[in-house]
Amino acid sequence: MSTSRSSLDAIASEILNCVKCPLHKSRKNAVPGEGNPNAKIMLIGEAPGYWEDVQGRPFVGAAGRFLDLLLVEAGLKRQDVFICNILKCRPPKNREPQPDEISACTPYLDRQINTIRPQIIVTLGNYSTAYIFAKAGLTFKGITRARGKFYRANVLGLVVTVFPTFHPAAGLYNAKYKQLLIEDFRKLKTALQ
Ligand code: URA
Repeated sequence: MSTSRSSLDAIASEILNCVKCPLHKSRKNAVPGEGNPNAKIMLIGEAPGYWEDVQGRPFVGAAGRFLDLLLVEAGLKRQDVFICNILKCRPPKNREPQPDEISACTPYLDRQINTIRPQIIVTLGNYSTAYIFAKAGLTFKGITRARGKFYRANVLGLVVTVFPTFHPAAGLYNAKYKQLLIEDFRKLKTALQ
């Protein structure tokens, strides 16, 4: 087993047993994230929803099905990338992540980033973009302004390209966001070529 795989497995088993914030009380399953331990691209969402909590896997509900289509637009497969979230446990009724939950949970994300050492971090939506921008010392003025551009940045000592876009769930109820998400993932494909 590769060292990255065994480190990620060790982080995942800590997450499965985590009681650092109250979200552990209502979860069915924690959702550490999954994918290629040597991925060049890491995608970071917000938090598990209903189906992710049931299955213990990221992006398996409606937003996940749309994310799968977006990955195709970028010429990528799930097995190529690593997908995870800011929060590893579902907030009740899918409410927004709270600052204390983000501070309790993100050390796991930082360790996942440091293990995978991706070249590109795709942030999906406001929460993950705000978090990664803060780590990179970039000013965040909302996802609408930040999205669709490549930012060369230092995140946790790694020189990476940060590519923010809308959260896939936004594309499910808004045709304009859906189109912009498709355009952003096509841009990602061009950048990868
Ligand atoms: N939304 C997210 O942000 N993450 C998931 O895993 C599923 C839906």
